[in-house]
Amino acid sequence: MIRRIISKVFGRKSRASGAQILPQSKHGIRREQIDDCALKTCETLAQAGFKGYLVGGAVRDLLLDKTPKDFDVATDATPEEVRRLFRRSRIIGRRFQIVHVMCGRATIEVTTFRANGQKEAEDDDERPTDEHGRLLSDNVFGSMGDDAARRDFTINALYYDPAREEVHDYFGGVADCKTRVLRMIGDPETRYREDPVRMLRVARFAAKLDFHIDPDTRKPVATLAPLLANIPRARIFDEALKLLMSGHALRGVHQLRAEGLHHGMLPLLDTILDDPTGERFINAALKTTDARIAQDKPASPAFLFGTLLWPQVLQRWRALEAAGEKPQPALFAAMDEVLDAQRGQLAIPRRYDGMMKEIWALQPRFEQRGGQRPYRLLEHPRFRAAYDFLLLRAESGEVDAELGEWWTRFQEADDDERATMLLADSSPKPRRRRKRKKPGDAGGEAHPA
Ligand code: ATP
Ligand code: MG
Repeated sequence: MIRRIISKVFGRKSRASGAQILPQSKHGIRREQIDDCALKTCETLAQAGFKGYLVGGAVRDLLLDKTPKDFDVATDATPEEVRRLFRRSRIIGRRFQIVHVMCGRATIEVTTFRANGQKEAEDDDERPTDEHGRLLSDNVFGSMGDDAARRDFTINALYYDPAREEVHDYFGGVADCKTRVLRMIGDPETRYREDPVRMLRVARFAAKLDFHIDPDTRKPVATLAPLLANIPRARIFDEALKLLMSGHALRGVHQLRAEGLHHGMLPLLDTILDDPTGERFINAALKTTDARIAQDKPASPAFLFGTLLWPQVLQRWRALEAAGEKPQPALFAAMDEVLDAQRGQLAIPRRYDGMMKEIWALQPRFEQRGGQRPYRLLEHPRFRAAYDFLLLRAESGEVDAELGEWWTRFQEADDDERATMLLADSSPKPRRRRKRKKPGDAGGEAHPA
């Protein structure tokens, strides 16, 4: 009895697994904070005699009083056993099988406990399968303790049992949440060598959670960063996208730079961040994306990648113009060159090309403010995105602030006001030779179009 009271207040150590087991009074997570579907999934598993715990990001976010983005469940049932338990479910992935359990409009990811430091591939459907021989080892099932040990950070290896309202903590993740420390499980160097992408995850989580990186976790990164060169680019892209869409892209990108990791992930940031206009532009773009995500507004990856690549497009555009090309063909050639070049680096999927190009191609049309042209531009399906893009260019000083303001007013104005706003001379000005400038230096002046 006394032991029960003590363990209720202080938690207890499981002799079988070595995990610290914390009662509700110690971890403070309330069942009401948890998605009904996730609870139901754990319950169904338990009724069938299996374990069913919430795991990973959701438990961490609940401890930090944040609203989890999604709820993942870990179980000792095999994928096939899970699938049989839920009518609306399907097994996904080949090398690393997980089960998607559909519940209302939500999907709960159910993962079977895995052993050893295998590479994470939960969403590996699109992952290239160039690492032969990993097929079997990626599906080696294990105990819950094994499963905890193969995870990356202590704060990501927490398991919540909804039935008993207990948290199982294998590596001190609850304490690390309290002191806001990001700590790799096991020997950091070994863990980075097993999977170099974990280095990018350090930057992502430190930025997203505003956590301090434990010195031992940070230390090997500087020397091991080049290992990222051997990772399939699609995987790097996935991790980059997670960082950029995390709501803390600005901090994340600067974190990467501080860790010397932007070479591997966004090589283009190398050049951009060293150029003052480029840096102002990217910072403005990342800040806007973060703000949109904070307000639950949709943020489009294509728009964001369009901004990340813009300083290069601009630089090429200017160079081609300086070499005598006409503005419009010069812009189109610059777009293609930059898109081709980045494919060797970051592998932005082609599905984003169309939208990026449309946004870029519309930029010169904002300069044309007479006759019917502004009205036609307003009607363009991509007007809104292109206008948002223009505002970023204005904010960074690449074009006159006045141009952005004009378009803001023009949209809000009624017909009569619009007519008075039109500028007399809207046709492209005859080309004058521009002074040669340092690449990327926009000098705060509108680009002639
Ligand atoms: P978020 O809320 O940002 O999605 P998350 O913790 O859910 O955070 P995911 O990338 O979705 O992060 O991964 C889910 C879980 O899988 C992590 O919490 C971690 O335990 C484990 N994991 C993911 N990637 C790795 C990896 N490369 N190495 C080890 N464990 C990993
Ligand atoms: Mg997640």
